[in-house]
Amino acid sequence: MRFIADHDLHIHSTVSPCCHDENQTPQAILEYAKKYGLKKICLTNHLWDENVKSEAEWHDGQRFCCVTSVLPLPQSEGIRFLFGAETDMDYNFVVGVSEERMSAFDFIVVPTTHLHLAGNTVRNKLTTPEEAADLWIARIKALLEKDMPWQKTGIAHLTCGHIFKGRTAEVIRLLPDDELYSIFTDCQTKGVGIELNMKTLAMTEEDKKILMRPYHIAKDTGCKFYLGSDSHKIDALKTAKENFEDIITLLDLQESDKFPMAKSE
Ligand SMILES: [Zn+2]
Ligand SMILES: [Zn+2]
Repeated sequence: MRFIADHDLHIHSTVSPCCHDENQTPQAILEYAKKYGLKKICLTNHLWDENVKSEAEWHDGQRFCCVTSVLPLPQSEGIRFLFGAETDMDYNFVVGVSEERMSAFDFIVVPTTHLHLAGNTVRNKLTTPEEAADLWIARIKALLEKDMPWQKTGIAHLTCGHIFKGRTAEVIRLLPDDELYSIFTDCQTKGVGIELNMKTLAMTEEDKKILMRPYHIAKDTGCKFYLGSDSHKIDALKTAKENFEDIITLLDLQESDKFPMAKSE
């Protein structure tokens, strides 16, 4: 049975410092779920839990109290609106959510690819695709060594535009197959979710070949996937579902490939 696009587990609202659309409210996000027949959605605003020590400086708007200020979330019959967060990993590979606060979240998204934040996620601005590729590998490996609640953890946007000045394909093509197989085998063993939100509808065939390779390998190793639009504005929600369907077709995903948390009960 084909993978059903009935969820979106990575969405920001106005609470995120990088969300500049005042209409991106929890209520508007719930309306998006109704319109596109989604049964499970999750709000994942940026979090750096101030209980976690970091050499890097994080935006005050990422504090625990800012992220929880959206509660309670509006609900609607037949739709579960979950409360989550997108935390981060600093340049010392520290993850920004403390153990005592993990239980406050239904779902935690961890990006290992926010390589654009010099002084936060990387010490200095990256200068070459090779450097970015090495960090791509080192950071996901470091994450997998953490003690995370893997059954409610997702790894965000592995091939996003933040990796190296928008030159993502140049970096991804440098990742060796055997490294990817080893990393995704570990992901499969841990049971962490792999996020899907690549803008495949807008990609050239050449880029598609390069950028889909990690996901094909993840599927080969038995990893489970969830959809997460990472929308920061209402306009982005309008094309999310169509893009999800395209990704599902390209990867030939089945319901059995779905991350358990993404399933609607
Ligand atoms: Zn992100
Ligand atoms: Zn995000």
